[in-house]
Amino acid sequence: MIQSIAVLGSTGSIGQNTLDVIARHPDRYRVFALVAHSRIDLLEQQIVQFRPEVAVVVDRVAAESLRSRIALLGVQTQILCGSDAIVDLVQRPEVDTVMAAIVGAAGLPSAMAAARAGKRLLLANKEALVMAGDLFMNAVRESGAVLLPIDSEHNAIFQSLPADYQRNPERHGVAHITLTASGGPFRGFDRVRLADVTPAQAVSHPKWSMGPKISVDSATLMNKGLEVIEAHYLFGIGPQQIKVVVHPQSTIHSLVQYADGSVIAELGAPDMRTPIAHALAWPDRIVSGVEWLDLVACGRFDFMAPDLEAFPCLRLAFAALAQGGRAPAVLNAANEVAVAAFLAGRIGFMQIPEIIEATLGVVDHCAIGNLEDVLEADRIARIHAESRVASLS
Ligand code: NAD
Ligand code: MG
Repeated sequence: MIQSIAVLGSTGSIGQNTLDVIARHPDRYRVFALVAHSRIDLLEQQIVQFRPEVAVVVDRVAAESLRSRIALLGVQTQILCGSDAIVDLVQRPEVDTVMAAIVGAAGLPSAMAAARAGKRLLLANKEALVMAGDLFMNAVRESGAVLLPIDSEHNAIFQSLPADYQRNPERHGVAHITLTASGGPFRGFDRVRLADVTPAQAVSHPKWSMGPKISVDSATLMNKGLEVIEAHYLFGIGPQQIKVVVHPQSTIHSLVQYADGSVIAELGAPDMRTPIAHALAWPDRIVSGVEWLDLVACGRFDFMAPDLEAFPCLRLAFAALAQGGRAPAVLNAANEVAVAAFLAGRIGFMQIPEIIEATLGVVDHCAIGNLEDVLEADRIARIHAESRVASLS
């Protein structure tokens, strides 16, 4: 049966890679809906190529102009606007599969709605799990949604765990998991050198081509911090059992160590089309367009411990996870504010962890009961982080 897919964040890095894989398999997949907030010209091209039933644009003015442009081209796609339309869309019975690839906290409501609606959910938006991990995983369990991780490390862990791991985790003897980190563009820099790095340097990642926010997160190591929290919720693994190692070649995407000493890992070229194709087809396998891994060309693999002195964001993420309650949502919100301020040239690179730490220190971390609590923690943390930015810039 053909899978009908809604691609949220279709004009982003993950969204474009998803459409690249889908276009290779017209016999398996149909694009039912596209959703984007920016790069509306690209969205228009995607609409013309994939002819979805529906496209959603967040902004009303952009939606109106897109509506008249595609009408002129004779394309039938219905153009909707607003964030609520995204939440409604993912619950529609015509949608089998949701690719959740909106960046940041903005992706939480639609990813959560897809989880509650019991969809096949391809989750790239790690921020949703960081902010609302327990609620999210409960929604998946209660609805029977099929949750497949797109983040390359988590997709690698998923592939390295036994198929029935989630049903009975204890019997499989997982000792710990190791997330690999490329180290980002500033690997080896000390705090003095990091003080002067620019946004342009931060977004030019040596191994992965990604959107600007996650590229800065990779440069600060906050991306790995968010991924530690993501792994904790996805696989039900305690923080002490999650390790991080810097592996500049980004060929080993992550590893699982078992009680008997076995280590199972997933390797491949650093290209997101592999985890995307894996999740689209699971449990089948399909062609993704990714180059074969040539081990001789790789030559060598290096590993080193992360430098928590120069890159405190990873330490802050572990601390927020240990604290629990609203702390991960506060960490995420403060990070989004600080990264946006850095990209806008308002603060320096080393002020990103400073703002996050200060925000974690002032916002209360009581328990989370429902999604409203998460959104409130997010809102309050943003206010504190913004005022901190203003005092620094
Ligand atoms: P990106 O910035 O390239 O794209 C983001 C997409 O989301 C765009 O289509 C944008 O228009 C859309 N968007 C932004 N705000 C929106 C809003 N309020 N409502 C609706 N749509 C909105 O980002 P990306 O690199 O593709 O990352 C997307 C998500 O996937 C992030 O959560 C990121 O952490 C995760 N991820 C990305 C990669 C990667 O290789 N790029 C790898 C692992 C995980
Ligand atoms: Mg990743």
